[in-house]
Amino acid sequence: MTSQGMVFNLQRYSLHDGPGIRTTVFLKGCPARCWWCHNPESQLPMPEISSFQKVCLSCGACFDACPERLDTATTCTLCGACTEACPTGARQIVGREMSADEVMASLLKDRFFYEDSGGGVTFSGGEPLCQPDFLKTLLSRCRDHEIHTAVDTAGLCPPETLAEIAPLVDLFLFDLKCAEGKRHLQGTGIDNGGIVSNLALLSRLHANIWLRIPVVPGFNASEEEMCALAKVSSETPGIRHVWLLPYHATWTGKQARFGTMATGATQPAPPTMEVLEVFAKIFRDIGVPTSIGGQ
Ligand code: SF4
Ligand code: SF4
Repeated sequence: MTSQGMVFNLQRYSLHDGPGIRTTVFLKGCPARCWWCHNPESQLPMPEISSFQKVCLSCGACFDACPERLDTATTCTLCGACTEACPTGARQIVGREMSADEVMASLLKDRFFYEDSGGGVTFSGGEPLCQPDFLKTLLSRCRDHEIHTAVDTAGLCPPETLAEIAPLVDLFLFDLKCAEGKRHLQGTGIDNGGIVSNLALLSRLHANIWLRIPVVPGFNASEEEMCALAKVSSETPGIRHVWLLPYHATWTGKQARFGTMATGATQPAPPTMEVLEVFAKIFRDIGVPTSIGGQ
């Protein structure tokens, strides 16, 4: 199994990625391109430069430090000289190769918090199943230490990969964004056929799945779409709970930093609590335990 992987964040004391207090390990790389993506730095599988214009002083230190005398991502060698020279942290390299030993050393620091709170470790991204060997190594090491594990996935992997990973995971947080194929493709750049069939496969292999649905105005925030998603939820035996995650607009600032903002991208208002309650009732009415926000 691979003992090296590309990580872009280790978030300690996380309360929104599964039960209890958790550390979330964010692995880099995702084939989807959801326009509202809150983690655009997760998409590319390699390190990249982040440029936070709001705290840039326009001092030029980054340009002076660059051995290439260049400031463009296309010719950047990711040497890091500009980030070291930057006095404000406006310029950063996001993503680094980490060993499983390094990641585990960080995770084990908080094992008492996990034990006391009923928490553990969540692997997220990006799509963590894009680094299956590294993920398997980390999951096995967590199991050796009796640490509860969750994997936050959009099911974007070959079915064989999912089948190999499933026995090593205590809880799956499965992101399903839209049941209708054409709309899913328009919003995410990915056909949902493989995702839906992977969810069906997982439900045969694993009995502890939480379905997470981002509620995004202009994409899936309609009663018609929620009825379709509720039907999938009620017909998928492994799904224990559904979480409706209200869209919020924080993605715009981050996408500006990474240059991933689509031309003409809209910024719809978040769904109101009244609308979310109507959607949650659609699920609850057919017997699917459903909550708004949080996990
Ligand atoms: S990381 Fe290195 S090559 Fe890339 S822009 Fe900064 S100084 Fe130049
Ligand atoms: S060194 Fe930092 S603050 Fe100065 S111009 Fe470059 S990014 Fe801006």
